[in-house]
Amino acid sequence: MAQGTFGTAINCIDGRAQEPVTAWVRANGQVDYVDTVTIPGADHALTQMTLDRLAQVREMVAVSVNAHGSGIIAIAGHHGCAAFSADREQHEAAIRAAVDVVRGWGLPTRVVGLWINDQWQIEQVV
Ligand SMILES: [Zn+2]
Repeated sequence: MAQGTFGTAINCIDGRAQEPVTAWVRANGQVDYVDTVTIPGADHALTQMTLDRLAQVREMVAVSVNAHGSGIIAIAGHHGCAAFSADREQHEAAIRAAVDVVRGWGLPTRVVGLWINDQWQIEQVV
């Protein structure tokens, strides 16, 4: 087991979205480090990708959970996303659906959904 405590983020590739999510997970999950899997428009993508691709994402997240003992997985969607150009309501619906997908993976972790607003602040959706 690695030194320190870990959480996990499934986030967009967007560089602007990384720091707010990392900071939120560190503070609210009370962990030292945040392992991050990035996918363009992650909130939308998790509900649209093929089962093969989804299994690959689950595998990446499972390393964080199993090897680092992560107890929280945060799925984030953000304002101004190039990969999923949608309004806030559509993003929130996608975040909720993505949380359901990840909860279905049966990992022993809390799963939360985060919205990053136009001020790059985090709002917890799920
Ligand atoms: Zn994005």
